[in-house]
Amino acid sequence: MTARDALRAAAARFAFSDTPRLDAELLLAHALGITRERLLLTLDDRDAPPGFAALVERRARHEPVAYITGRRGFWTIELAVAPGALIPRPDSETLLEAASACLGERTPARVLDLGTGPGTLLLAALAEWPGATGLGVDRSDIALDQARANADALGLTRRAVFARGDWGAGITERFDLVLANPPYVATDAALPDEVRCYEPAGALFAGEDGLDDYRVIAPQLPGLLAPGGIACVEIGADQGESAAALFRAAGLAAALRRDLAGRDRCLVLTA
Ligand code: GLN
Repeated sequence: MTARDALRAAAARFAFSDTPRLDAELLLAHALGITRERLLLTLDDRDAPPGFAALVERRARHEPVAYITGRRGFWTIELAVAPGALIPRPDSETLLEAASACLGERTPARVLDLGTGPGTLLLAALAEWPGATGLGVDRSDIALDQARANADALGLTRRAVFARGDWGAGITERFDLVLANPPYVATDAALPDEVRCYEPAGALFAGEDGLDDYRVIAPQLPGLLAPGGIACVEIGADQGESAAALFRAAGLAAALRRDLAGRDRCLVLTA
């Protein structure tokens, strides 16, 4: 089958996805071992390779594209991703935008990423601020293995340390920038199958109202911020008020930032 026909047929099977055509292009590029850009420039000269059909079957069962290709672009970096850690989402780039906007010309010397998963926020921050070093904490050893491998692949091993932990518990150091994308989905919330059936529940769900992990993190945060430090914490689109109230109760000032879709997505917290 020509690549063009194969893409059309594959995209038609991905109607459940927000991005059926993009999904098909990423899978075909992966099957061919080339970038999507290269594929699009050479589409008319190619046929779909034999391995493509199996990738289409996996996606048709709602498996996330990033778990099939094993890679996901985030901010300015590309990360290896695999089951057991949350796939980086463009929404989370809001935290880096917020941090850049608040820091202005300042470079954070020390960065903490609470719930780092495959290293997403910490490694993006270290790529953004070449003078920074940081600590990534997660309670999942699978995630920490992925994070360390990503740091290695990105040449950031000497600037990133990853450690097993329970949010900020036991951390005595203070940081110029704290980033966190904790679980914030209510236990009974409707999620797409590709999220609920494939991504780790421990990275998604946070009790009946989705606020359980903020209840733990909020009282720890003042003790984790260096003088002049800021924290950028991801929230669900309906948690602007409820999550902010928890951080304000811990004595912090909270400002809200929206993602590119205009939804509440990030709290910027200062002492
Ligand atoms: N935004 C994610 C989703 O609903 C949730 C990520 C999280 O809980 N931190 O897919």
